[in-house]
Amino acid sequence: MEQFKGKIAFGGIAIGPVRTIGSSHQMVRRTRVEDVTQELKRFSDAKECAIEELKALYEKALPQVGEEHAAIFEVHQMMLDDADYCEAIEHMIASQQVNAEFAVATTGDNFAEMFASMDDDYMRARSADVKDISERVIRILCGVHESTDGDQHPAIILADDLAPSETIQLDRKSVLAFVTREGSVNSHTAILARMMNIPALVATPAGEVTDGTLAIVDGKQGLFITDPDGETREKYEKLLAAEQEQRKLLATLKGRESVTKSGRKIHLYANIGGVSDVAAVLENDAEGIGLFRSEFLYLQNNDYPTEEEQFSAYRRVLEMMAGKRVIIRTMDIGADKKIDYFNLDEEENPALGYRAIRICLDRQEIFRTQLRALYRASIYGRLAVMIPMIASRWEVVEVKRIMAEVRSELDAQEIPYGEIELGVMIETPAAVMIADELAQEVQFFSIGTNDLTQYTLAIDRQNNKLDRYYDAHHPAVLKMIKMVVDAAHEAGIWAGICGELGADTELTRTFVEMGVDELSVAPGMVLPIRKGILEAE
Ligand code: PEP
Ligand code: MG
Repeated sequence: MEQFKGKIAFGGIAIGPVRTIGSSHQMVRRTRVEDVTQELKRFSDAKECAIEELKALYEKALPQVGEEHAAIFEVHQMMLDDADYCEAIEHMIASQQVNAEFAVATTGDNFAEMFASMDDDYMRARSADVKDISERVIRILCGVHESTDGDQHPAIILADDLAPSETIQLDRKSVLAFVTREGSVNSHTAILARMMNIPALVATPAGEVTDGTLAIVDGKQGLFITDPDGETREKYEKLLAAEQEQRKLLATLKGRESVTKSGRKIHLYANIGGVSDVAAVLENDAEGIGLFRSEFLYLQNNDYPTEEEQFSAYRRVLEMMAGKRVIIRTMDIGADKKIDYFNLDEEENPALGYRAIRICLDRQEIFRTQLRALYRASIYGRLAVMIPMIASRWEVVEVKRIMAEVRSELDAQEIPYGEIELGVMIETPAAVMIADELAQEVQFFSIGTNDLTQYTLAIDRQNNKLDRYYDAHHPAVLKMIKMVVDAAHEAGIWAGICGELGADTELTRTFVEMGVDELSVAPGMVLPIRKGILEAE
């Protein structure tokens, strides 16, 4: 028995045989070619064929994972047509008289390394994509057909770094879990695993494992165990059975109202990152959306998303939620969420830096585009908008002034819009201390405990060395939540929690006692929290 510790991309337990997914890289050898023109044509034909495959993959993925996640196959098509990438390959074939396979493999490695060394998380994650497109072309050059994986037995997939296109091609029913040796929790593979509701570990230092070896993935503790001994296997079989039993029990809570024993209603909402997550919200019977992190629309684009693009995303979410409250947070770019096209300066202390509303108030054209899209979408459902990273009352006053200007502009253009409930995120200690004043300006508060913990305890939430100090149960944080709820109620508005702490089942009872009106959690946590609410006084 061997045990490896990885990073958790998605929780849960899986037991089953390992299926390794290798790369086509091993097949590549350097050979000298005499006819360079013919070799350039081989590359160009293989590239065209790869683009055709990717178009087909996009069509296949669309109904399975939605536009937002299928879009990666369009990105791959663009990457394959990228002038720098193609010219580097063609130049190598021509100047070194090497075979196309070798030129693609070498260029792919060089580009992947370049992406991997970048500071930006998003760009680093592109390293897997460039490897993926290169391996696709190499496979075509080698005359190997893509496997369809149609009738595979369920297995734990082990790979160095599973590419998004490999992930999507796997038949969901045949995948018990994913384990990758490399990769980040921000990669598309991790995102797809969460979407598929499959336990997944990344950055797991597992050695070579023979196909068919029995293994266990413990997505709660981040463990990948191969060849488990009898006792370990028995322990995990029990845990798996309990997990399945728990899921069945929780499913019986669908359709139930989230009310405490004393009859107090708690609004139980879900957090999403894009349109395609709405399916999971509905599946888990959330009563609304408490946090739509709109910056993901910006993160997955190569340029500022247009008003039309944003309008269409917001409208679809509102329509799918059919009159249930949808709270969209205006974009929270900055700190760990960096985007090249924003051209932001490097900062010594990005978490304390230029982010969220601070960017919006300076670069108002970006903010106004988002607000126009939000107002236009507001007629399609019950829309609420909240502003992140508020620290001062004047910021809210200014936001309201800009919102009024946007409304006047829409009036002048005779563009219809509806009512928008306005709220602020309470995620700085300053906002907690002036909650009574902020409550005069808005209709609700949503407490962002992830940042509130970071700023209250002076702990960089990105620094994993500080994990043991990052204590969201710290009395300072809990006292602040209580202060915010009291200030809200005093002013006659409501207060919820949308940070990760809202999904902490150990605290549900405490939050109910504090008078929290709303909890917004990951879709998969809605039913466990409903259970906690039903059991609270
Ligand atoms: C928070 O800070 O708690 C929050 C919900 O926002 P994010 O995690 O996106 O910063
Ligand atoms: Mg935050």
